[in-house]
Amino acid sequence: MDLGIRGKRALVCAASKGLGRGCAEALAAEGVDLVINARGEEALANTAAELADRYGVTVDHVAADITTDEGRAKVLEAAGDLDILVNNAGGPPPGHWLDWSRDDFIKAVDSNMLTAIALMQATVPGMMERRWGRVVNITSAAVRAPIAVLGLSNTARTGLTGFVAGMSRDVIKHGVNVNNLLPGLHATARADSLDGGTAKAEGISIEEARARRQASIPAGRYGEAGDFGAACAFLCSEQAKFIVGQNLLLDGGALNVTM
Ligand code: NAP
Repeated sequence: MDLGIRGKRALVCAASKGLGRGCAEALAAEGVDLVINARGEEALANTAAELADRYGVTVDHVAADITTDEGRAKVLEAAGDLDILVNNAGGPPPGHWLDWSRDDFIKAVDSNMLTAIALMQATVPGMMERRWGRVVNITSAAVRAPIAVLGLSNTARTGLTGFVAGMSRDVIKHGVNVNNLLPGLHATARADSLDGGTAKAEGISIEEARARRQASIPAGRYGEAGDFGAACAFLCSEQAKFIVGQNLLLDGGALNVTM
């Protein structure tokens, strides 16, 4: 299916690796020109070169911490007028609810709620003027089914979800669709680090921790960045124009609910 977005311009944040990279690659495969971002220059430059070479699109890259005002200003300046925005940043560390300080919460809210909101505030007005836009926020399955040790993530991402619920219904009349993608367990560096944390806490090997977590997923495996990117590209497509303010869960069936 032709997604009808060839020649559009997208910013994909936190995209040198993992799910952000999966989204960037799926958009590039549809002929979308990209600006990608991450903090580390080397992996980011390699990803940009690979995607440009493989798909024949323009891929600019900006090494910056997207959770800071300066980082966002640098990325937005390079991005110019955008048609598509994919919001992403690293997730907060696991821990125990009794241990988290006010500063820990502020950091999580800055990274996983206010950064996405600031980027939408900076880019969606232009999309509205041009009468076409798509925003996909990478959140987490934890907004549907909380993960106690990821309480900082549960808190910040649920705040973003509430914001999008209202804002998406305001901007759709100007041709801008805003939706959220909720990853369950996917095979990325983040999953490796969470497997490591589980292994340490339970005194088992990483392989055992991973096998247990995979067994909890009806699909019997972790998701792949490519699966995730394909869903992102569809939400950015011309065909997705009637999908507004939704929260699409990609978890291999892990959440046992009817709807
Ligand atoms: P990942 O494999 O660790 O990749 C993270 C990417 O984000 C890297 O390119 C990293 O590059 C970049 N990044 C991290 N912090 C950044 C920052 N402050 N500014 C700019 N770039 C930044 O992570 P992932 O698994 O793709 O996860 C992506 C998001 O989905 C995270 O918020 C994660 O918590 C959430 N999530 C993941 C899963 C899963 O199973 N994988 C499940 C639920 C939710 P640099 O380090 O060079 O900046």
